[in-house]
Amino acid sequence: MLNARDAAARGAAIATRTKVTSARREGGLWVLDQTCGRSGSASTIRTRALVNAAGPWVAEVLTGALRSNSKARVRQVQGSHIIVPKLFDHDRAYIFQNADGRIIFAIPYEEDFTLIGTTDQDYHADPAKVAITPAEIDYLCAAASEYFARPVMPRDVVWTYSGVRPLYDDGASEAKAATRDYVFEMEAPTGEAPLLSIFGGKITTYRRLAEEALERLHGTLAQTAGKAAGWTAQEVLPGGAFHAGGTSDLADAFRREHPFLAPAEALRLARSYGLDARAWLGTAQTRADLGRDFGAGLSEAEIRYLMAYEWAENADDVLWRRSKLGLHMTAAERDAVRHAMDEWSGKGA
Ligand SMILES: Cc1cc2nc3c(=O)[nH]c(=O)nc-3n(C[C@H](O)[C@H](O)[C@H](O)COP(=O)(O)OP(=O)(O)OC[C@H]3O[C@@H](n4cnc5c(N)ncnc54)[C@H](O)[C@@H]3O)c2cc1C
Repeated sequence: MLNARDAAARGAAIATRTKVTSARREGGLWVLDQTCGRSGSASTIRTRALVNAAGPWVAEVLTGALRSNSKARVRQVQGSHIIVPKLFDHDRAYIFQNADGRIIFAIPYEEDFTLIGTTDQDYHADPAKVAITPAEIDYLCAAASEYFARPVMPRDVVWTYSGVRPLYDDGASEAKAATRDYVFEMEAPTGEAPLLSIFGGKITTYRRLAEEALERLHGTLAQTAGKAAGWTAQEVLPGGAFHAGGTSDLADAFRREHPFLAPAEALRLARSYGLDARAWLGTAQTRADLGRDFGAGLSEAEIRYLMAYEWAENADDVLWRRSKLGLHMTAAERDAVRHAMDEWSGKGA
């Protein structure tokens, strides 16, 4: 999200929920047809280069929309996590060696919970529909129970989430052994617009990956004005221009400016938004100044900010994707967010 906001601030057009349906090379350019999932409207854009960073869908986009005959293959490996009420009272993480040669972790999560992950299993269905299986829940509970004094039981699980790692298929026999390195595949026929496809990757190495992608496309794209190659190392993401490790200090500052904020609330805002929380906290001196209170510290002002600046469109975006506040709310409170957002976006009855 912060990368999208950063790119938008530097002039990028961000088109959420918009699918590239087909693309072809024409006169040294790529011509892309795209469809907006919201309105259903179709549009066409022309580019000098195309980067296919469709994650788990990279191969599908490559051979489908882009009609490439590339032989590159993705190995889809499911990874799932469970969230349980907190198992320990400090802020450090555990890494446990599991008997099958893998490791699992237990990390303090959203103040009141512990996050336990992950699994590694081949996945052959639609990545958009991935969900934890009962066998994965059992595996994570059993692995954590080897180490904690009190066993972790499937009935303790309050929430789960899963993802699909789009690993480059290097022919490894076991999912856990497939390479975690990112792999580029470049197609640049002479005189034609290039196509760069990205397989794999990690959040921890995304800037290096992006810089390397631009090095590969050097000469095709205009350089960012005034920026030398490899300029991202010292750049902070939006809201992050405070000293490293300074979230507690920032939370203290928020509490001085807005005395009604509880310590845990102020810390969440500092961690989630950094300095940008001030964009919607404004000059508020009471909770009522932030509009309607939806519970768990979520205010109307925060939701409206997420809708205006972080492309949030529905309650799931706000409660689970931009935050994990859904964990701290009742079903009725989550429904209230849903109804309010429908009303504000004109979808309400
Ligand atoms: C279980 C699991 C655990 C992980 N753990 C770690 C970790 O501990 N540390 C770490 O650094 N990384 C980790 N990762 C990796 C990290 O999550 C990914 O590297 C990162 O999210 C990839 O981001 P991305 O933007 O490249 O791809 P994605 O976030 O997958 O985005 C791809 C986008 O392409 C879009 N798309 C698909 N088809 C089309 C189309 N036709 N037109 C337009 N758009 C399209 C999709 O909608 C999607 O939004 C983990 C991943 C998983 C699954």
